Amino acid sequence: MISPQAVIVCVDCGGRAHLVQPGDAESPYRAGDIATYRCEDCLDRWDLVVEAEDLDDTPDV
Ligand SMILES: [Zn+2]
Repeated sequence: MISPQAVIVCVDCGGRAHLVQPGDAESPYRAGDIATYRCEDCLDRWDLVVEAEDLDDTPDV
């Protein structure tokens, strides 16, 4: 997985907040990046720091 969750729960209204820019193969999200979400109900914007555990990207050992 190269992006954090596509949809999160809006803290303010409990609505669905969508990831504005999904990650792709050319610009995958990495830990420490900012993932921007926008709530479809209250249109609030949420900027979340991507944590390593949000990314199911197992490194090659
Ligand atoms: Zn909301």
